[in-house]
Amino acid sequence: MTIDKREDRAAVFFDKRMLAYRIPAGVFDSEPSALLEHQIPQPENPERIDNTRSVLERCPIAARLDWHGITPATDEDLLSFHTPAYLDILKEVDRTGGSVTRSTHLSKGELEAVRLSAGAAIDAAKTVMEGRSRIAYALGRPPSHHAQPDVADGYCFVNGVGLAALEALRAGCERVAVIDWDVHHGNGTQEGFYGRDDVLTISMHMDHGAWGPTHVQTGGVEETGSGAGGGCNINLPLPMGSGDVLYNEVFEHCVVPAVKRFAPDMIVLANGQDANQFDPNGRQCVTMKGFHSLGSKLRWLAGDVSDGRVIVTQEGGYNPSYAPLCAYAVMAGLLGEPLDIADPIAFYPEDAAASQRALETLISVHPLLGQ
Ligand SMILES: [Zn+2]
Repeated sequence: MTIDKREDRAAVFFDKRMLAYRIPAGVFDSEPSALLEHQIPQPENPERIDNTRSVLERCPIAARLDWHGITPATDEDLLSFHTPAYLDILKEVDRTGGSVTRSTHLSKGELEAVRLSAGAAIDAAKTVMEGRSRIAYALGRPPSHHAQPDVADGYCFVNGVGLAALEALRAGCERVAVIDWDVHHGNGTQEGFYGRDDVLTISMHMDHGAWGPTHVQTGGVEETGSGAGGGCNINLPLPMGSGDVLYNEVFEHCVVPAVKRFAPDMIVLANGQDANQFDPNGRQCVTMKGFHSLGSKLRWLAGDVSDGRVIVTQEGGYNPSYAPLCAYAVMAGLLGEPLDIADPIAFYPEDAAASQRALETLISVHPLLGQ
């Protein structure tokens, strides 16, 4: 199809009450270190999302964004993806405050932020399904894609990606493709749809493997779905340091053909920016330019399969000053706009040929180097 970019606007769902949610210092994936006078700052913090809000409000595509509040997700909403017993656990922890699992902590009353983050995903899906906007962005926290039907994991309590996909199906879609380019494996979404043939789940991620009892999925290529869902889960584990080149090659040569063959009528993007080059939780060296290219490619893919419609959920992205710029880059690409903000720190080459040339040059300059 031909996309007239003048038609495109994006709805953004945000509520500042999600910023009140704060994980206590020292609650991290590992125990606090006795060596450190100042503990590692908690990566999933309010600043990263508030900076994304401010960047989107002030950036060159600001005039193309429509801001909306959020309807908090109800129990009924959450039970479309999660089990009743699991919801009871979340409510119990919320009553007193505490950890659900090691990296998922709620202080008393903070389930409200989880309901808002999940509600943003549902609101975004409804907005797209009702034709009010072809692109809708759930700018929520805590993130969602690690949350399994009955397990919290990786800062995630409730799976907004899954809720958005289910809302699209409920409202009339026949097949939904989930594309997850967060640097971590989208194990929760995979788990929720593993046996279904109406949701294709694709995750491109750093090859980190399973990480304990809350994340038993490997993210490997062997996890392809089960039963009726056989073949409907695709994992694309990528080597450390993959960078703009490999991320975009994999998107073009793996994600695009798979989605076209599946022929969905809706795309949900699990939009983590923690593959960025300065992320404390990732090692993938993707730049603003790389994210912009991914957003542009997704725009054209959506134009081919879903009438340009994309539901976006915010996932990871933990450098609070760089990840928000990458979020802008994605949205600029999705809206067909150029990258109009200079990358403040774009100086790292990741090109393999350039690396080889550099190695050869180094070896040639000293007789003791080389083999
Ligand atoms: Zn992540």
